Amino acid sequence: MGAIELNRIEKWFGDLQVIKGIDLGIRDGEFVVFVGPSGCGKSTLLRMIGGLEEISRGNLVIDGRDVTSDPPSKRGLSMVFQSYALYPHMSVRDNMGFSLKTAGAPKSEIDEKVGEAARVLKLEDFLDRRPKALSGGQRQRVAIGRSIVRDPTAFLFDEPLSNLDAALRVEMRYEIAKLHRALGRTMIYVTHDQVEAMTLADRIVVLEYGTIAQAGTPRELYERPANLFVAEFIGSPA
Ligand code: ADP
Ligand code: MG
Repeated sequence: MGAIELNRIEKWFGDLQVIKGIDLGIRDGEFVVFVGPSGCGKSTLLRMIGGLEEISRGNLVIDGRDVTSDPPSKRGLSMVFQSYALYPHMSVRDNMGFSLKTAGAPKSEIDEKVGEAARVLKLEDFLDRRPKALSGGQRQRVAIGRSIVRDPTAFLFDEPLSNLDAALRVEMRYEIAKLHRALGRTMIYVTHDQVEAMTLADRIVVLEYGTIAQAGTPRELYERPANLFVAEFIGSPA
């Protein structure tokens, strides 16, 4: 479960090609980080994997099944964004359980899954609060909790921490690393923050205007950057 294969993936917005034929195999349970400068196509690539953006060419295979044309709900993935719009009038508990409720899950199952996510994310004491009574980090945890309850085969994160202040970003980075260890699920994580990439990733994929400049472990990239672009981005000694 959770193996994701990108085969010659392209994205065109009209005449503009923003993803230029990407091949990438992601192992079950792997933590893969997409990095690269603003506008290089990180979000577009992630959104195509999640099904929020149509794939212009190529195909996407999840656990051996071609899901290229499947809607997001059929892919078994869950996305976490930087803007984590929670429902302000609902409690943390109801925010986290909402997707299960709309899917018609019984209350006992919702309670169990929300309780379990709250335990992992240390939100047990906050379940009856409204989002406005939470800190930024706690709100981001609730947003992650909403994903966990859906029990996805893989998590997709698009710069989930970029709205948080520096101290909280560091704390949440540890939380996400712990979450990965606890759940053992595939995670694809987009960031433009080198430190986040280096600390979280099993493998970093450096994107350069719609192509992969290099993919490798943080150490490989640091010690043997494929070109100057990667070296500068990763901050390797020149
Ligand atoms: P990143 O997340 O790396 O900053 P994006 O994936 O958001 O980059 O964008 C990649 C490129 O695609 C940019 O040039 C951006 O302007 C363009 N782009 C993104 N979404 C659209 C869209 N809906 N229509 C047209 N161009 C888009
Ligand atoms: Mg982006």
